[in-house]
Amino acid sequence: MGEKTQPRLLLLLFLSGLVHCSATFVFWTANVEISFVNSYNETEEKYCECGLYGRNSPVRSASGIVTLPVGDPKGCGPDPVYGRNTTSPPWIALVKRGNCTFGEKINAAKRLGAAAVVVYNVDGSGNSTTHMAHSDAGDIVAIMIGNTQGMEIVRLLKNGIDVQMIISEGMAHGPWMDTYWLYFLSIAFFIVTAASIAYFVFISANRLYNMSRSKRNENRLKSEAKKAIKRLQVRTLNRGDEETSSDSSMCAVCIESYKVGDVVTVLTCDHIFHKTCIEPWLLERRTCPMCKCDILKALGVEDDRKESFSAESPPDVTVITVTGDTLYEVPLTDPGSLDPERQQHRYDNRAFEEDSEAARG
Ligand SMILES: [Zn+2]
Ligand SMILES: [Zn+2]
Repeated sequence: MGEKTQPRLLLLLFLSGLVHCSATFVFWTANVEISFVNSYNETEEKYCECGLYGRNSPVRSASGIVTLPVGDPKGCGPDPVYGRNTTSPPWIALVKRGNCTFGEKINAAKRLGAAAVVVYNVDGSGNSTTHMAHSDAGDIVAIMIGNTQGMEIVRLLKNGIDVQMIISEGMAHGPWMDTYWLYFLSIAFFIVTAASIAYFVFISANRLYNMSRSKRNENRLKSEAKKAIKRLQVRTLNRGDEETSSDSSMCAVCIESYKVGDVVTVLTCDHIFHKTCIEPWLLERRTCPMCKCDILKALGVEDDRKESFSAESPPDVTVITVTGDTLYEVPLTDPGSLDPERQQHRYDNRAFEEDSEAARG
């Protein structure tokens, strides 16, 4: 469980919450089928997916003879008269929206044994419907249809025509059809996007920081390598030198034999190379191409750097110097103990001498 999994877990929790909330607000359309005998004595059938199940209605089928309230078409009041008071034959109450709550209308019909309640919308609202809330009147199929459809059935019934209705479940519709949910989803989408962007910005900033740190580290190593290069012995090859007299002796970087007058650098491991060949190599790699000896470690340049960070007792650093064929080990921490004669011959490199002068203050 790393730090990276935490935002993903939060995102998952958020999305599962979103799905759960969406499921709560899914609504169902209802198929409404009516059949009646018309004036030509023919059975006419009409069908539309124009109903909308109420929020508290069971989503199931229902059928019966459509019945209007005898008095108030809105079916309000304690005892609206439907002209029926039994469940057989099954009947469906058709009431107009308004005057009282959906729950009151639905309960009034339910008391008299209706199989379902169909509420049609107010005048002038065309085919539009709303998602009825009737928490006080559940367990009976309750749908809403548009005013146009409702009024058409009312006209048939008022003309003395019996209308049979079958209600069945249509399609489930998600919250994306609801304006508030559109707002909610937009905001949720914005939050998720912003969180993702913030996360990627953080990751990129972290990567940039690491890159700049490694660049700084590389620069530091380069400057240390420069310091170390200044401390290396540089010789000009003369006639009679071992390197010029043998053909087998060559620079391992350019694979060329040494000639009289070549300027060479002697590394701390005693391997020699052309000065112009080895310096770029050391700046990049800081090790001998032949034996991998680390010149920073051998010259104690790294230790010098560590010393500047801590005030602890300085490490016992030694530098190997070469004069002719003789090797000397000189402790840097105690320049006073140097043999003056030996110190005089310690460097034959001008840069090296300057460095030494600076070191002595
Ligand atoms: Zn070379
Ligand atoms: Zn070497």
